[in-house]
Amino acid sequence: MSEERLAVLGAGTMGSGIAQVAALGGYRTQLYDAIPAAAEAGAERARAALAKGATRGRWSAEEADAAAGRLVPATELGELAGCVLAIEAAPEDLALKRDLFAAAAQACGSETVLASNTSSLRVSEIAVGVPHPERVVGMHFFNPPALMKLVEVVAAERSAEAPLALATEAARRMGRTPIRARDTPGFVANRLARPFALESLRILGDEVADVPRIDRVVRLGGGFRMGPFELIDLIGLDVNLEIARSFHEQAGGLERWRPSPIQERLVAEGRLGRKSGAGYYSYVEGPDAEGGAFPFEYEGAERDREPLGPTMDPALLAELDPAAEQILGRLFAQIANEAAFAREEAIASPEDMETAVRLGLNWPLGPLAVTELIGAARAAELLSELERERGAAYSPAPLLLNSR
Ligand code: NAD
Repeated sequence: MSEERLAVLGAGTMGSGIAQVAALGGYRTQLYDAIPAAAEAGAERARAALAKGATRGRWSAEEADAAAGRLVPATELGELAGCVLAIEAAPEDLALKRDLFAAAAQACGSETVLASNTSSLRVSEIAVGVPHPERVVGMHFFNPPALMKLVEVVAAERSAEAPLALATEAARRMGRTPIRARDTPGFVANRLARPFALESLRILGDEVADVPRIDRVVRLGGGFRMGPFELIDLIGLDVNLEIARSFHEQAGGLERWRPSPIQERLVAEGRLGRKSGAGYYSYVEGPDAEGGAFPFEYEGAERDREPLGPTMDPALLAELDPAAEQILGRLFAQIANEAAFAREEAIASPEDMETAVRLGLNWPLGPLAVTELIGAARAAELLSELERERGAAYSPAPLLLNSR
């Protein structure tokens, strides 16, 4: 049997990593880019990562060599004719992706399954105008693709079952864990993650506690690897805000997903996080020149300290911080709420929602386990109370109210 051939379109951050795991999975992998030098460079990065993984014992030197031998750059779309699957990882631009899909459909042939790695566009929109749109699906990898196990296989409006099954099987061959997702804004993991930053920012805005205290409570009481503010500083406040705006717009201005005015202000001031030297924390020596309420000096997480949680045990939390119960109560209630809305919309099965959050976000618990931890009744009561004080951002999902 000849080796199956897979193409990756776009050899940037994601494309290079996807090509690496595809080659490791046994596919003859063609890495195409609009810029030939970028295809070469992407293939070189993937080969270097394969060699490095072998020295770290992630796979054997033989496996790395064999995979590197299966990975070839491609400079013309015509070279991709007859591949079983083409995974697109080009820039996040609908017009560009549509053009590329049309060209790839022409070059690959009518049998090739075409998958997009988009994180914020609707796959159904990308498929418009593509011949045989039933073979267009989403394959949403997480960054870095070689380390993050999750792949969200997205069923677009017209996707047929066979191409979805092929994408699912391909993700498995690449050593990933596939889940099935509907074509809704942000798909599964990123959507279920909404409350992590948004509710933390509202807690900050309500002056329940300051930035370092909230981070510490979420880390030690919640059991998360990073607090929300250190995480946003790492991602970039501008990047995080852009994602928040995209969700908010796609949901027609949904109050629950409204971007934080605090974050809007910091981005306008150029406080973008680690990359600009300051965000919620300061990463430069000496006092903050502007002397504002932010940023706090970043002292590094208490990595050496074992987390107490995830817990809602009042005694443990009281010992951690006087506001810990309020902080985690609000955060967990909104996580439970988002999950309840997601279940009502059936964006994925409950099991796949848990898998997506654990593998795509590295949370200690999935959102349904979080719901159990706080209790649906308590979450619904807390949200109803906050809704009366603070409005529609806290409107509880009917499913949560009904599960009381
Ligand atoms: P990137 O900018 O690192 O890479 C994009 C590559 O596409 C570049 O090498 C560029 O030369 C090439 N390109 C541009 N136009 C092209 C065309 N017409 N045909 C073929 N190649 C073309 O981008 P990235 O971060 O790898 O993101 C790629 C896609 O993956 C986007 O849709 C993004 O939303 C999605 N995504 C990104 C992440 C992430 O964390 N970076 C995570 C999940 C999904």
